Amino acid sequence: MKPFQIYNSLHRAVEEFVPLRPGIVTFYSCGPTVYLPQHLGNMRAYVFVDTLRRALRFNGYDVRHVMNITDVGHMTSDADAGEDKIEKTARAQGKSPREVADFYIAQFKRDCASLNIELPPAAPAGDHPAPPQSALCRATDNIDAMIAVIGRIVANGYGYVTPSGVYFDVEKWRGPGGAGRLARQSLAEQHAGQRLEHSPDKKSPHDFALWVLNQPHHLMQWDSPWGRGYPGWHIECSAMSMKYLGETLDLHSGGLDHIPVHHENEIAQSESATGHPFARYFVHNAFLVGMEGAKISKSAGRFPVLDDLIAAGINPLAFRVLCLGAKYRSELAFSIDSVRAAEKNIDYLNEFARNLNETALSSEQDADWTAEYAERFCEALNNDLNTPQALATVLEMVAQAYRLRDQRIWNTLQNFDDVLGLDLKKKLFESSTGLEPPEISRLVKEREEARERKDFARSDELRNQLDAMGYLVKDTKKGSVVTAKRSAT
Ligand code: AMP
Ligand code: ZN
Repeated sequence: MKPFQIYNSLHRAVEEFVPLRPGIVTFYSCGPTVYLPQHLGNMRAYVFVDTLRRALRFNGYDVRHVMNITDVGHMTSDADAGEDKIEKTARAQGKSPREVADFYIAQFKRDCASLNIELPPAAPAGDHPAPPQSALCRATDNIDAMIAVIGRIVANGYGYVTPSGVYFDVEKWRGPGGAGRLARQSLAEQHAGQRLEHSPDKKSPHDFALWVLNQPHHLMQWDSPWGRGYPGWHIECSAMSMKYLGETLDLHSGGLDHIPVHHENEIAQSESATGHPFARYFVHNAFLVGMEGAKISKSAGRFPVLDDLIAAGINPLAFRVLCLGAKYRSELAFSIDSVRAAEKNIDYLNEFARNLNETALSSEQDADWTAEYAERFCEALNNDLNTPQALATVLEMVAQAYRLRDQRIWNTLQNFDDVLGLDLKKKLFESSTGLEPPEISRLVKEREEARERKDFARSDELRNQLDAMGYLVKDTKKGSVVTAKRSAT
C-alpha cells in the first residue's frame, strides 16, 4: 500500500508521513472555544480532524489524540486585546464561566456525536502520574501545567515578568526581522493593518501574554509564582500537548486562521521551553464559506449551526458527506442546497446497506472485483487525504454491485466506512423494522462487551434473548451485526 502522505504546512509540501515511533502517532488538535455554539465552519474543522485520525488508524497506526477545550484566556481578539470570550457570555447570560463552558461543551459533544466524530475521552480530573495519551482536556483543568511551562520559558530567558503580566519576548525568539516558521512573515508583515494592544509593560507590541496579572474584573483567577491572574490563550496548547503527548508531537492540526498567530505562538512557546522541535507535521483545514464567499465566523453575528440542518429535516451526516466531498485544503461553499445534494449520496449508500441480503452479510470474503476499488480507495486516502476521490470510489463500487447484481462488498464497504464515518452498519438495524429499537441496541452492545471480556456464557445468553425477541446476531470481523428475522416484521 502506498504510504500515507499529507501536506505539511511547515514545509509547504506534501510529504510522506513518518511518525517518531513506528506504529504510533501523537496527534494534537486545537479544539473549540466554548462560549457560543460551534458553527458549521468549526464543525468542518472537526470532521477533518476525525477523518485524518480515522485515515491514520486505517493505515494501522495507534493514534494518541488530544484535543483541548478553551474555557479561559481567549480574548475577543486573537491577540491579547478585548474581553475573555467565555466571561463575556457569562456576564451577558448571568451565569458563571464554568456554567457557560459546561453548556457549550455539552452542545459541542452532541454535535460531534451527530456527525459521527469520535472525540477522545474526557481527561480524568486532577493530577495523574501518567496521564492518558488520548484526552479531551479543558484549559481550566490544566492551569498547573501552564504555569510550569511559563516558568521554563522565563527561566530560559524568553519570557519577562511585568506588573501587567508575563510576556513572551517574540523578537528575542525570532531574532531581528526574523520570520515566523509557518506564516513566513516578519512581525511587521504579520501584524500589518492591525491595531495591536500596546501595554507600556511590553518590550514590543508584538509580544504576547503568557500570564495576565492585575485584572481585578476577570472572574477566573489562579495563584501563580508571579501573582494572581490567568493564562494567555496560546499557552494552553503548548502545556496540554506536552503534558499528554510529550515534547515533540507527530501531528498538529487546526484551521488556516490559526497559522499566523496561534500556531506561531505555540511553536515559539514550546520550543523556547523545551529546546526540542514542537510538531513535525502541521496540518490545516481550509474554511467553510458562505455562498457570498465570506468565511463563516462567530463574529459575523449570524452563523449556521448543525441544529439548522436538523430543523430543516436534513440528516446531519449529510454535512459530513459535504465536507468529505471537498479536499480539506480547498475552500468549501456552504448552502442548504449543497447539503441536500450531499444527502442524496448518503441516502444511496444507506439504501444499499438496508437491502443487503444474508449471503452478502455473512460472507467472509468479498467478490474479487472489489479489490480494484479497495486499491483506489487507499490510493486516494493516502494521497493527502483525497476524500472526494475516496468517496467517489465508494459510490462507484456500490453502483457496480447494483450493475453486477452482486452484493458481496460488505466487508470492503465497512472498511471504507471506518474512514468515512457514515455509520452504514447502523442501517442494518433498520433492515426490517424501519427503526433502530433502543432495547435491541442496548442488548447487542452488552453482548459485545461480554465478548470483549470473553464472558461467552453471558454472550450466548444475550444472543438467545435477542433471538427470542426476533433478532438474529452475527459476529463479523467488524463486530456484531443484528438483523430482524423475517418473522419479526
Ligand atoms: P474556535 O472555536 O474559534 O477556536 O475555532 C475552532 C476551530 O474551528 C479552529 O481550528 C478554527 O481554525 C476552525 N474554524 C473556525 N472557523 C472556520 C471556518 N469557517 N471553516 C473551517 N474551520 C474554521
Ligand atoms: Zn491551539
